[in-house]
Amino acid sequence: MSTQTIAVHLPDGSVREVPSGTTPLDIANSISPRLAAASVVARLTPLTGTKDQAAHSDEPSEDAMYAAGDAAAPRLVDLTAPLTADTRLELVTEKDPEALKVVRHSAAHVLATAVLELFPEAKLGHGPATDSGFFYDFYREKPFTPEDLVLIEAKMAEVIARDDQFVREHEPREQALEEFSRDGDFMKTHFVTKFTVPGDEVSFYRNGKFMDFCRGPHVPSTARVKAVKITNLAGAYWLGDEKNPQLQRIYGTAFFSKKDLDAHFARLEELAKRDHRLLGKQLDLFSIQELAGPGLIFWHPKGAMIRKIMEDWMREECLRRGYSLVYTPHVAKVNLWQTSGHEGFYAANMFTPMELDDANYRLKPMNCPFHILIYKNSPKSYRDLPVRLAELGNVYRYERSGTMHGLLRVRGFTQDDAHIFCMPSQIEDEVVACIDFAEAVLTTFGFKEFKVELSTWDPNDRAHYAGSEENWALAVGGLQRALDRKGIAYKTIPGEAAFYGPKIDVKLVDVLGRLWQLSTVQFDFNLPARFEMEYVGEDGEKHQPVMVHRALFGSVERFFGVLIEHYAGAFPLWLAPVQVGLVPISERHRDYAKKVEAELKAAGLRVEVDDRNEKMNGKIRDFANQKTPYILVFGDKEEAAGNVSVRTRGKGDQGTVPLAEFIAKAKALVEGQSTEL
Ligand SMILES: [Zn+2]
Ligand SMILES: [Zn+2]
Repeated sequence: MSTQTIAVHLPDGSVREVPSGTTPLDIANSISPRLAAASVVARLTPLTGTKDQAAHSDEPSEDAMYAAGDAAAPRLVDLTAPLTADTRLELVTEKDPEALKVVRHSAAHVLATAVLELFPEAKLGHGPATDSGFFYDFYREKPFTPEDLVLIEAKMAEVIARDDQFVREHEPREQALEEFSRDGDFMKTHFVTKFTVPGDEVSFYRNGKFMDFCRGPHVPSTARVKAVKITNLAGAYWLGDEKNPQLQRIYGTAFFSKKDLDAHFARLEELAKRDHRLLGKQLDLFSIQELAGPGLIFWHPKGAMIRKIMEDWMREECLRRGYSLVYTPHVAKVNLWQTSGHEGFYAANMFTPMELDDANYRLKPMNCPFHILIYKNSPKSYRDLPVRLAELGNVYRYERSGTMHGLLRVRGFTQDDAHIFCMPSQIEDEVVACIDFAEAVLTTFGFKEFKVELSTWDPNDRAHYAGSEENWALAVGGLQRALDRKGIAYKTIPGEAAFYGPKIDVKLVDVLGRLWQLSTVQFDFNLPARFEMEYVGEDGEKHQPVMVHRALFGSVERFFGVLIEHYAGAFPLWLAPVQVGLVPISERHRDYAKKVEAELKAAGLRVEVDDRNEKMNGKIRDFANQKTPYILVFGDKEEAAGNVSVRTRGKGDQGTVPLAEFIAKAKALVEGQSTEL
């Protein structure tokens, strides 16, 4: 057989002519043995497909990884996969997030290897990588115990130490099916039947004696799974059907290094401590009541105090920035939702209609149509624009049961919603003002970093969008120029816009580096047309105004949830529901406590006195557990001198100061909305 030569294009632009059958590992080794050792898998982009397509899919999905799918799309292959056609080749190292998925999926094979060595009677399901690790499904009559998991983890370490290579093998489909059904491997039989067609060759991966039906790819050998841990065991019915046998799903996670693995668990611990549902209970901030229904938030006095401060701040800022405040109803006739179009494209997200004597009504999922009705209630001229209507509006959206999550995903929430109606010439200034406002929200509430995305239409699918090409160009241009004027770096995402207009999303980065989508500035070409909105222009003619929806907290409930987790419940002084806790040392200091309390309250500070007959240290501990920013302790000495002994959250005992001095300092921090304490 004559040796055919193929062309392998490398990322640096060079092209290597190599014999067909050369592997990515051969090429890596020919570049440098260090590169070969650092490579996890290879990414191939066939040159036979259109180059455009390859350029578009630079982030391959999991589908591209496991399914045969699009022949022209990049796909990951084993380092030992023979190359048989001209291709682009990229050696994927640990710097590439896709590599971690390959490590995790390979870890699932290691897990299955260990389970079968210890429990040969177990039957295998499947073992994919997930966003946070991997799992493998097993069927075994006797459930695994926690002790079994310890044994399995130890066995996994042995499998890894053996450093067996992952070797790809093939077998005719019919033969594989025969073997699996002979061995009672009902799940494997199912997968082979589902994912292959008659006449196919079925691929297997072998490491040591263990074989698994799998498309791959995997790391070169088991020792490349360097840091792995079993995390959880859960029951799951085969194919999700409770009539089927119950499987046992063993979860685990894997990282490139022990250091990464440890950091992951440290972070999980930190996340658990900051969970807003836990802190909401511990600090008595809010609750969700079974009797009332899921996804509906009850704000308790302390949570309500923080909400009041957030809302007061927001309303004041709106007024300062030229918005008008409005209030609108919670329900409206179905006719309104028909005019707005929500009755069509948004119906699945709305509460079902309520029949009253004159018509059917629906709870509002959005405030927009109401603000439009206010605009339309009187004629508008170009001199009236921009009209900026703002409301902290309660909206209700249907979320499937079981999907609710604390304050983050709810059925009733409060949008800090505003709608700006303006002339096309005013777009840019209005968007700049919105971004300024969004920045003010984030910095005031203590977030230092944020990311901005600009969502535009898919130019290949214009029929899908409302509004003319000219309008889209105008709006997208306005958004871009506004971001450029602000000097804000942003990512443009084509095809991500809603059908009714482009938008800017601002995602804040919290103290743990998590991204939260909160503020949105959204154009709308649809509603002004549907409601036949107009204004009389300078030319005396009627024109349609441009509409911008914008929400900055997004949802007050969700923003509060993010705040709780960001601060781990230790709110800055200006937001803290109780700012100062008073601890009289004994009963005879109660009068002084009253005096201190009155003076603090007169200065506008929020105070709580603990005059129970308890030990001083117990009272201090209780305030500390409530994460109270300041605790003032006083006895005979302090009373005689008009002093207080100050304990600052996170800093401990700060010594004794005159009461007036403490008040002045605390007031300054509150007025400056300091996030330092
Ligand atoms: Zn596999
Ligand atoms: Zn709106």
